[in-house]
Amino acid sequence: MNHIRERIDNATERGKFVKEHIAFRDDKTIDHILCRLCGVIIYGWADVEAKTETKLDGQKVVTIRQQPMKFDNYAQLQFELNDGSLYEPPACASCAENAKFSEDDFEELMGIELYAWELTLQRAGRSDEHVKGLLKPMEDREIVKHLGMKQER
Ligand SMILES: [Zn+2]
Repeated sequence: MNHIRERIDNATERGKFVKEHIAFRDDKTIDHILCRLCGVIIYGWADVEAKTETKLDGQKVVTIRQQPMKFDNYAQLQFELNDGSLYEPPACASCAENAKFSEDDFEELMGIELYAWELTLQRAGRSDEHVKGLLKPMEDREIVKHLGMKQER
């Protein structure tokens, strides 16, 4: 049994968190990202004022275009992993500030992280073998401690 597969399956079956928290467009760019804890949108395409021109007749023309951006509620959680490194997944500000996690929650969070990677790599057109190889280094990664909300430096 593939250990990564087992972790992903267990996490998606438990289903407390949002397993498909990244949505892609047909051109494979990211359409939006949801908070993986509560499902609100935290990153997506929004109108930005690209250019303001004043024409000869004095009329103002404002060009609006869309671009992907972090929304105001975008924040990051911070966890310590068993290899001593930090894991900082995005979440909404409210969850990042208030969420509490059990050990089962830790395992599910890692499982859906592996799942998100798997989907992202598959959508990028990687072969199954290639995806397995790229996920392999994450196989034994575990969250050991919730450090809180990532503070901007
Ligand atoms: Zn949230």
